[in-house]
Amino acid sequence: MVDTAQQLMTAPVGADLPRIKVAVDAPQHSGIGGPLDYVSEVVLAPGSLVRVPLGKRELLGIVWPRGAQAIEPTEYADPSKLRAILAVLEGLTPLSASWCRLLEFAAAYYQRGVGEVALSVLPPQLRELQSPQLQLRLKRMRKWVAEQIAAPVQASPSRPTLSPAQAEVLAQLDALLTEPASATAKGAQAPVLLYGVTGSGKTEVYLRAAEHALKQGRQVLVLVPEINLTPQLEARFAERFVGRVLVSLHSGLTPAQRLRNWLAAHEGQAELVLGTRLAVFASMPRLGLIVVDEEHDPSYKQQDGARYSARDLAVYRAHLEKIPVILGSATPSLESWQHANQGRYKRLALPERIGGGALPRVRLFDMRLMPLSKGVTTALTRPLLEALRLRLERGEQSLIFLNRRGYAPVLHCSECNWKSDCPHCSAWRVFHKGDRSLRCHHCGFSERVPAACPTCGNQDIAPLGRGTERLEEQLREQLPGARVLRIDADSTKLKGELEAHMAAVHAGEVDIVVGTQMITKGHDFRRITFVAAVNPDGALFSSDFRAPERLFALLMQAGGRAGRDAEQAARSEMWVQTWHPEHALYKALAKHDFEDFAKSQLAERESAGLPPFAHLAMLRAEARTPEVAKAFLDAAARWAQALPVAAEVLIYPCIPMSVARIANVERMQMLVEAPSRSALQRLLWLWNPELHALKREHKGLMRWAVDVDPLAI
Ligand code: ADP
Ligand code: ZN
Ligand code: ZN
Repeated sequence: MVDTAQQLMTAPVGADLPRIKVAVDAPQHSGIGGPLDYVSEVVLAPGSLVRVPLGKRELLGIVWPRGAQAIEPTEYADPSKLRAILAVLEGLTPLSASWCRLLEFAAAYYQRGVGEVALSVLPPQLRELQSPQLQLRLKRMRKWVAEQIAAPVQASPSRPTLSPAQAEVLAQLDALLTEPASATAKGAQAPVLLYGVTGSGKTEVYLRAAEHALKQGRQVLVLVPEINLTPQLEARFAERFVGRVLVSLHSGLTPAQRLRNWLAAHEGQAELVLGTRLAVFASMPRLGLIVVDEEHDPSYKQQDGARYSARDLAVYRAHLEKIPVILGSATPSLESWQHANQGRYKRLALPERIGGGALPRVRLFDMRLMPLSKGVTTALTRPLLEALRLRLERGEQSLIFLNRRGYAPVLHCSECNWKSDCPHCSAWRVFHKGDRSLRCHHCGFSERVPAACPTCGNQDIAPLGRGTERLEEQLREQLPGARVLRIDADSTKLKGELEAHMAAVHAGEVDIVVGTQMITKGHDFRRITFVAAVNPDGALFSSDFRAPERLFALLMQAGGRAGRDAEQAARSEMWVQTWHPEHALYKALAKHDFEDFAKSQLAERESAGLPPFAHLAMLRAEARTPEVAKAFLDAAARWAQALPVAAEVLIYPCIPMSVARIANVERMQMLVEAPSRSALQRLLWLWNPELHALKREHKGLMRWAVDVDPLAI
């Protein structure tokens, strides 16, 4: 109803003109708001872009197809008071009906306004353009596309002969790719889960499947979890598909590039679209195949606004458009794995590395056997140093994985027990030695390291624990002459730094790479024969039930960086320094046995009633005091408990988030669990308007949000 009030602020236009629905981004009264009513003198196709008035503002809107949205808050608007659209963006093909349906689904499922979500996934520059400027952009895009096609073709791309396993997978895929969707029972095909160890040639399978779709005149969408991985994949696709138009879509593009690439996809000119999670919404009129690489990666989940999972939406989109989708991973998410177990996804496997290369031998190094003597650090144990020296002598590369950046996670005074806490967060400030700062990784608050303890004046304050920066320093001390390179968020802040670092590793200019999970992903290093994970145990005892799954995937991926060159594979090794070598996770890792790990995790999840055997949503609230946030969540819970659907769901008491306070904002969360997705969705659907109302009653409340299928608990 607020929408209606806003619309009434300027003079109405009259009742006789045809009414249309327009999706606009109106976050100030977001709720599950449907498109708004306007009138238009001209008949407009659904999916057309228009400029409309809203209150005193002028906004970009999308003419929305009628009838699909369940809640239409402006339905009762007095027709004589509706306002007219201001302009139409001409020359642009309307967004397709299936695109609109995808956005409707995403908005409804993740509990956001359809206009908010739809407008947020369009290139931001579109909002600023009038028709003449848009025409110009379209013209430039066409010219750019023509240049791509005209680029001289050097040599015809070489395609490797498929390995028997790849050939087998492709034979099965070809059947799916060729089969007209209407021939299958439900009109859509089962998603394919391509389960293949690192280096097993999954990318080659994507390339062949893409080739297939392109030959049929269809467009192909390939999603990767991280922006850092796009250049590498882009190069492989560009090399294979010379003369075809390939564009990327991710947040690292300039606004102009993003608009050009989006337009090229939308107008059907780009045949291949490669991108990060936001690319799942790319408008592609002839979409024929979707590939989701590293489908298990948490980066596919958006962490603010509409908290969507691009992987899940890719599956939905494929279903909607009746096209195949391939989810690839060496360590599939347990959700996807369970779908495959139940036959809802088709599992195709590539069990071996290309060229017969073995996976690195995993050595679980028992920290309990280490004598605790002075001078021996718990990260760089003597045996680990020996192992590194051996590789140095052989001229091979090593990689050390420590998922904690900075020098030390906390600075400590041994006199009075002071610790470098953040005044604004319930977290320690991390000691960064490079710029001698104490920096909070949550709110960014940074100060110079004090010369003495701020409470007692003791000058002997010392770092506790270890981050990548300290490990790098210790490596340099212990292995003089070794070329050590650190790769983490701090060492790759500047544009081009990561690429330069990676190039140095590839060129063999580095002996030892130290880094966070940034180095574990996707990179096809050829010279690494030794990978070490130092003290990864934290995740074994995390309160987040997904922590072991993530750790296993990370370690498998890290190990996957070693021995990618078949010649070296035989002597490649992965070293895990742990206090719990008997843990089932490490035992499965040592055997490279994802299936065993998945089986035991799924059994645990089933008995604990956790996903994929239950469906979760998290309601989060933020306020200056925990009491205000709690009062809001408690009121929300009381309201929900009174609903009939509450009998089917379990609403847990609210608790502080794992980092309870960030930048002086207290954060509380409340878990909702349901045995079925539909029960959960019904509850959320009813809850949403009430939560908006409650927000108005709870004055001190700053924000609330629902996270459907949350990843971090
Ligand atoms: P994954 O994506 O499963 O990690 P890749 O597709 O990157 O594996 O393949 C690993 C390496 O093997 C790459 O360097 C790739 O070029 C090569 N490769 C893949 N398939 C073949 C093949 N059939 N014959 C020869 N080399 C191949
Ligand atoms: Zn002190
Ligand atoms: Zn802070």
